[in-house]
Amino acid sequence: MRATLTVLGSGTSMGVPTIGCDCRVCRSADPHDRRTRPSLMVEWNGHRIVIDTTPDFRQQALREKIDHVDAVLYTHGHADHILGLDDLRPLTYTRVTGGAKVPLYASAETGRVLRSVFRYVFEQDYKFGGLAQVDLHEINGPIRICDAEFQPITVIHGDQEIYGYRFGSAAYLTDFSQVPEASLAKLQGLDILFLDALRHKPHPTHSTVSESLKLVERTQPNQAYFTHIAHDLPHQETNAQLPPNVRLSHDGLRLDFQL
Ligand SMILES: [Zn+2]
Ligand SMILES: [Zn+2]
Repeated sequence: MRATLTVLGSGTSMGVPTIGCDCRVCRSADPHDRRTRPSLMVEWNGHRIVIDTTPDFRQQALREKIDHVDAVLYTHGHADHILGLDDLRPLTYTRVTGGAKVPLYASAETGRVLRSVFRYVFEQDYKFGGLAQVDLHEINGPIRICDAEFQPITVIHGDQEIYGYRFGSAAYLTDFSQVPEASLAKLQGLDILFLDALRHKPHPTHSTVSESLKLVERTQPNQAYFTHIAHDLPHQETNAQLPPNVRLSHDGLRLDFQL
């Protein structure tokens, strides 16, 4: 079936511009150089999921006029991917959900982080006003949401195993330093592949432009988009150096694909 994905955020953990930085990308007038924290939205047949709830989730949701979510999928428990969880609150109102809780899907490890960071949301006897009405589910294989399937794809993020996701002809891998062979095998025949590409300089927990270009060679998607981008990469200039089937993504980018 036809589906649309929207890049909610394409930036690295601190966002671009970075607080207190006066480099030329942080000062750039090009709106493509303004990158909120990394997240993706997928929509089909009136359904909608988001991958991660970043510290910028509120602004992303207002910008994209998000009025409901059927589920949230988490990649891992780092601050730049989870800290917007509390801003799910208005999307869990009974008038939005009909009284059902919004399901969150996460690995056992990510679930532990969410329960600890958002203790007040998940502990029944913890007294606090206005709570997000959410239900945490541990991922044990492909996730079915409405009539679509989301397959977790294991990637290596520093010394941690975390998840990316494949859904139909698209896949989203943010935050990795390596992609295991078994996961590469699950990324064949893609129309759209999102890959972490922080910058040119090597990083212990993130992929670089040249490392991710090698993964594009290995997986041969029709089109690849880079995400989790730092202020080292100016949008226009970097795109001019990339092969035509590889582009830097940007906030608000919308693409149609088969789910
Ligand atoms: Zn990250
Ligand atoms: Zn991370």
